[in-house]
Amino acid sequence: MARVFNFSAGPAVLPEAVLAQARDEMLDWHGSGMSVMEMSHRGKEFESIIAEAEADLRELMAIPANYKVLFLQGGATLQFAMVPANLMRDAKRADYVHTGEWAKKAISEAKKYGAVNIAATAEDRNFSYAPAQSAMKLDPSAAYVHVTTNETIGGVEYHWIPETGSVPLVADMSSHILSRPVDVSRYGVIYAGAQKNIGPAGLTIVIVRDDLIGHALPGTPTMLDYKQMADNGSMLNTPPTYAVYIAGLVFKWLKALGGLDRMAQINREKAALIYDLIDSGSFFTNPVAKTDRSLMNIPFRLKDDALDDAFLKQAKGAGLIQLKGHRSVGGMRASIYNAMPREGVEALVAFMREFERSHG
Ligand SMILES: *Cc1c(COP(=O)(O)O)cnc(C)c1O
Repeated sequence: MARVFNFSAGPAVLPEAVLAQARDEMLDWHGSGMSVMEMSHRGKEFESIIAEAEADLRELMAIPANYKVLFLQGGATLQFAMVPANLMRDAKRADYVHTGEWAKKAISEAKKYGAVNIAATAEDRNFSYAPAQSAMKLDPSAAYVHVTTNETIGGVEYHWIPETGSVPLVADMSSHILSRPVDVSRYGVIYAGAQKNIGPAGLTIVIVRDDLIGHALPGTPTMLDYKQMADNGSMLNTPPTYAVYIAGLVFKWLKALGGLDRMAQINREKAALIYDLIDSGSFFTNPVAKTDRSLMNIPFRLKDDALDDAFLKQAKGAGLIQLKGHRSVGGMRASIYNAMPREGVEALVAFMREFERSHG
């Protein structure tokens, strides 16, 4: 069996040890005689799986007791609607920081619920940086401030937390959750689709402060009400049981590795290997301000676009796949989530070096 190094932005690489464990437990989970896929979500086996997943996530992220952890569906995209539906309340206004493609989608959905104030935007420089605190024109009467803390397509990451005073900060962390420690207490809501840095597609994790629960706008569907989901332990209906199970295995893998401090150190080292190569010459370029470069998603261009196809074809031949940039920006993109081993990054860097040598 030959495994490739998969640089997809999502669904993305999972830790091989997790996949192997899932394989070993596929037909008979812990002597139950069943696959997790076949279990009742109300049975004691699955109850223990979801409870342990939540406990491990709380430990990894040091989530304070006054926050609920919800295991939902609908992807981060549904949170673009659930956040305003649950948080807008009477204020009917919210601040959004416009950082690129994903922020744009969150903004357009929020406009269906109330007035959206673009508190800051990076549009002036083609979304190549994270707007500074001083650039944010925050509305003190806003219901919340929304930030996309890692723009998966643009490769722009917030390496600091915006200060929003008493207005709750809401973060779309889909593509860098669990890549490093975060101070959860600085946020009102953190959400992330699982398929980038957590587990399989179909699961969305929402971490929400207690006081922000229970204020859904009239007419909000039951399934989209944080309170209904929180009161029912994320099991208002059948949750994505197998995805929760795999996410739980990923949390255990992270704990065994040494937690998020250790993961952050590994991620810094991996990203540096690629950025150092890009910066060492003029053959490869990355458009993002150095202070705001993403450690998870690294877009880059070749000196000559005409070489793109050859680059991708030869990379594939070398077992390095999914390096094509998002269709909206072109060029290349290497997504190097937690589960991308250092050897994968080293193989990519060696390939890029050789490609430059033979085509530069
Ligand atoms: C992938 C992604 C989304 C969309 O996620 P879905 O789970 O497909 O809805 C939203 N925001 C960010 C930052 C993403 O990377």
